[in-house]
Amino acid sequence: MALNIDLHSHSFESDGELPPAAVAARAHQNGVDWWSLSDHDETRGLAEAAEAANRLGMGFIPGVEISANFCEKTIHIVGLNIDPQHSVLAEGLARIRQTRVDRARKVAQLLTDCGITDAWEGALSHVDNPNLISRVHFARHLLDQGHVKTLQQAFDRYLGDGKRAFVPTQWVPLAQAVQWICAAGGKAVLAHPGRYRYKPAQADALFSAFKEAGGQGIEVITGSHSPAQYDYYARVALSYGFEASRGSDFHAPGAGRVDLGRMPDLPANLTPVWHDWI
Ligand code: AMP
Ligand code: MN
Ligand code: MN
Ligand code: MN
Repeated sequence: MALNIDLHSHSFESDGELPPAAVAARAHQNGVDWWSLSDHDETRGLAEAAEAANRLGMGFIPGVEISANFCEKTIHIVGLNIDPQHSVLAEGLARIRQTRVDRARKVAQLLTDCGITDAWEGALSHVDNPNLISRVHFARHLLDQGHVKTLQQAFDRYLGDGKRAFVPTQWVPLAQAVQWICAAGGKAVLAHPGRYRYKPAQADALFSAFKEAGGQGIEVITGSHSPAQYDYYARVALSYGFEASRGSDFHAPGAGRVDLGRMPDLPANLTPVWHDWI
């Protein structure tokens, strides 16, 4: 049987709900053999995650999911097997976290304009890591206050792309995010390519630009993809010469499509991103 490898997940150090050690415990309980914590723009959970994984006898790959831009849209690039101490990466991520704070101030103002009370304080009350504020924290406030019935509805009505409290944001160009990951000794993996709403020609441009920048892998099996998308992105990986990754993108128990480790194996004809580590 193939090893159960899950290289994409979140803790409360970004927009997940559990502490890093609890994510490790849940991964282990679900039969994961090798696991990566890959919080958004933040590495401060990695030490606790590594320690917990070691205690459980589970393999650990330090990760991060960087917010970046391509063609005016936000894309996510997972950096795997990174050295979180590397100054180029650490300083870059610190800048993105500051961009998050600046964006959050604007989101709070737009929500206030929509008649939402205590938007800033409410979102902050859901933040565990004071350096990392996410739209998800605003979504939790909207849910708390009864403005929406689900987190997804908060995105559909207020926070999603083009909605009333959406703030277009300049993160960092795709190539720069890849450079930071490579500088820190890691491998850059394009996260959930099926989630970006690019036209086909733009999607091709994204894969080419990512490859050109030094990107090595794409997520094929992710909680964000349908079975048809597993097949589609397996073909993309083959045709561009990308390695393939597998990750749940777990955020919280009961949230999202899949739990830690509960996805199909990578198709056997693909080269896994972990081939030289595991
Ligand atoms: P942020 O990185 O602060 O812009 O927040 C984006 C995060 O919100 C994603 O990583 C998901 O965890 C979560 N999310 C949930 N639903 C949506 C949605 N419809 N669009 C974008 N993000 C969503
Ligand atoms: Mn997230
Ligand atoms: Mn993502
Ligand atoms: Mn993610």
